[in-house]
Amino acid sequence: MTAQIIDGKAFAAQLREKVGALAADFAEKTGRKAGLAVVLVGDDPASQVYVRSKGKATIAANMESFEHKLAGDTTQEQLEALVDKLNRDPAVDGILVQLPLPSHLDEQAVVDRISPAKDVDGLTPVSTGRLALGLEGLVPCTPLGSLMLLKQIHGDLSGMDAVVVGRSILVGKPMAQLLLAENCTVTIAHSRTRNLAEIVRGADIVVAAVGRAEMVQADWIKQGATVIDVGINRLPPEEGKEKGRLVGDVAFGSASEVAGAITPVPGGVGPMTIAVLLRNTLVAAHRIESIDLPE
Ligand code: NDP
Repeated sequence: MTAQIIDGKAFAAQLREKVGALAADFAEKTGRKAGLAVVLVGDDPASQVYVRSKGKATIAANMESFEHKLAGDTTQEQLEALVDKLNRDPAVDGILVQLPLPSHLDEQAVVDRISPAKDVDGLTPVSTGRLALGLEGLVPCTPLGSLMLLKQIHGDLSGMDAVVVGRSILVGKPMAQLLLAENCTVTIAHSRTRNLAEIVRGADIVVAAVGRAEMVQADWIKQGATVIDVGINRLPPEEGKEKGRLVGDVAFGSASEVAGAITPVPGGVGPMTIAVLLRNTLVAAHRIESIDLPE
């Protein structure tokens, strides 16, 4: 059997188009565009690429993009003052501070400062708490995008056994909460988990969010399971090549012989993240203006 390849790129393009149309309606109704502010501190090349592509996607979706690029030696006070200013700015509906921050800065304190109403990354304690309580709120983009792909494949996830490998605040924990809210039976695995392969083998749904190239092997996967590979890892370059290949946390080639459906890397979960960020910004803008967001 060969798995269905879940085309996250195509799904994300559809979502972006839908968000773009709703953002145009929002601008017409309110007389202003929804706005996303992205804050980048320092000159990490990967972060610069992410910020640039977020800016482009925001504009393409009929929203306003505000980029704040700060020097690597920015102080905690300066960064928090900018977050405070963005919290007050009526043109800004979403605030995203690109992580990781340089090591002299207190990341949690900066995130805590973001107004929960504008927390489009879903990382503030209020957003995290609301998700755990099953209340409406802004949910981290990567796990929400992963859930959308799962629902596209299965519709109802109720009663399915799900294993999430990884327990980060950004991916693993919110993913587990989302699956629980969909009535899955959820196991969260991490670096101290015993018998990981065996646990994964019991799952109808496997979400791998570890950051270890091709760690999840084909013989860990139950026949017909759905595999969501969140990992993005760059292999060392092959001879004569400048850059190594991007791979996920799952051994894609062999796993796709066993799985029922699987996301590729790249082109699976990755494109969903930005699409959901745009959606979250639109959701935040509608809530701020107290208008309903059409489904
Ligand atoms: P973190 O490093 O924050 O978390 C990794 C998790 O994996 C931890 O919970 C850790 O356990 C667990 N882990 C590490 N080694 C093992 C192991 N040998 N066995 C089982 N569990 C293990 O990473 P993130 O959650 O931020 O990201 C995970 C991956 O997803 C990365 O490759 C990242 O690049 C990618 N990513 C992709 C995104 C996208 O848009 N597609 C967005 C965000 C991330 P412990 O807690 O015990 O240390």
